[in-house]
Parts: sequence; structure tokens; C-alpha cells
Amino acid sequence: MERKTNKVLGYNVDLLSFNEASEFVTQKFQNNEGLHIVTINPEMIELAQKNTDFSDIIKNSELVIPDGSGIVMALKLKGIIQDRIPGIDFSKELIRICQTYNYPIALIGAKENVIQTTVKRLQGEFKQLNIEYYHNGYFSSEKEKEIIKELMNANPKLVLVALGAPKQELFIKKCKKLMPKTVFIGVGGSFDVWAGEVERAPEFFRVMGWEWIFRTYKQPERIKRIYKTLPAFLIKVIIEAITKKG
Ligand code: UDP
Repeated sequence: MERKTNKVLGYNVDLLSFNEASEFVTQKFQNNEGLHIVTINPEMIELAQKNTDFSDIIKNSELVIPDGSGIVMALKLKGIIQDRIPGIDFSKELIRICQTYNYPIALIGAKENVIQTTVKRLQGEFKQLNIEYYHNGYFSSEKEKEIIKELMNANPKLVLVALGAPKQELFIKKCKKLMPKTVFIGVGGSFDVWAGEVERAPEFFRVMGWEWIFRTYKQPERIKRIYKTLPAFLIKVIIEAITKKG
């Protein structure tokens, strides 16, 4: 299937509905093809513009879903109507698909208590789910080699990586070379939400595209990150829309 994309500040974003994106990944699962799914937001684009490695990873990934409201807004400024696809919901959908087809999965990331609870809760929600491997996200570069070996032995069909950006994408890049038939997705703080450590925004905030406002209210330490990246991003996308570049 040919990708239908549009660029936001030079980065391709796939223009798919939630269902189309999940069908695209199901197809990949069935064809035994791996891919790296990036759940993109303005902060990641700002980071990528200063980090060539991270930038190349986003540009080379096979599926970029618009996780951030800022991305949807940037597309809208160019006259493109695209629904937001929250990475956390999309990841759950991929887990559901893996349960249906009995595909083994693996989870990497978050604090030890968080990953333990996440595994327990997912196992409670998806009774037939085969979680073949999991590990917390706090490890040395020596330990990382061991984890990648263990991951290869587990041979999962799907790996969810929750290390935050760009750490999770850099980790996925290393794994992807060795596991070309596996689907990888960076899921940021999703395990914290699934474990009940962090509250998910109520439906109203999600529908309005204001989930980030709720997250910032609940985790004020995020203000610094947003303050550093969002204004610059907004100015650039407005200029891009006016000059019709990208
Ligand atoms: N994390 C990790 N190892 C690290 C740094 C972060 O496992 O070295 C985890 C952290 O515990 C959290 C997630 O990565 O679960 C990052 O969450 P954040 O909310 O920053 O991600 P975002 O959703 O903003 O991308």
C-alpha cells in the first residue's frame, strides 16, 4: 500500500484514520514485515531539528501517526483535515490485535513497579495475551545489550517501548536492525497511565484535543518542556503554512 502523507516542518505524517492505520499494521503483521511506528508530537519535531540521528529515524520510519494536537493543527493550517491518533489508544489496539492472532508481545520501559503493574493489568484486560518479555526502562548500556539479546530470543511480533523521546526511538533503531520482522512503537508515558500512576485526561479534554493541557496540569514539571518547544513550533508551522513550504 502506498503511503499518503503530508509534511510538517519536513517530517512526513501519515494521513490515515485510526482504523486505516490499524489495518496497515495488521497487514504488516500478517506479511511478517517489521516496522517502526512513530507517534509524533511538536516536542519530538523540535528535538529532531537539533538531533540528526533522531531526525533520520523519524524520516525513515514506516508509519508516523499524529499523536500531538499541534501536529493536527499544523496540518489544518495547510488545509488538511486529519484526526488525531493518540499513541496510547493506538498501542492498545495493536495489543488487542496481537491477542486476537495470538502474536507474542514485549514491553520495555518505565519504572520497575510501573512495568510490573502494567503487565498485570494488561494480562487482566486481555486474558489470552501472550506477553513474552518485559523489562523496566532504567538500564546501563551494558545491560541494554543483554536486554536486546533477550528480546531477540523472545521473538515478539510487537514491542512497545516506553523510554520517552528520543531515547525510545534510538533504542528501537538498534533493535530493528536485528529484528526486521518485528513491529516497534514508542509509547512515551503510556505505561504510567496503564499502571494507574498517571491519570488520563477525561473524554472531554481528549475530544477537544486538549489532553496535553490536562497532562501539564497533572505533571507541572512538563511546563518547561512545552514552554521550550511549543512556541517555536507554532511560529514555524505558521510560517510554513503562509509560505506553503514543506
Ligand atoms: N523512562 C524510562 N527510562 C528512562 C527515562 C524515562 O523508562 O531512562 C520512562 C519513564 O519512566 C516514563 C516514560 O519513559 O514512563 C516517559 O514518559 P514521558 O511522559 O516523558 O513521555 P512522553 O509521553 O512525554 O513521550
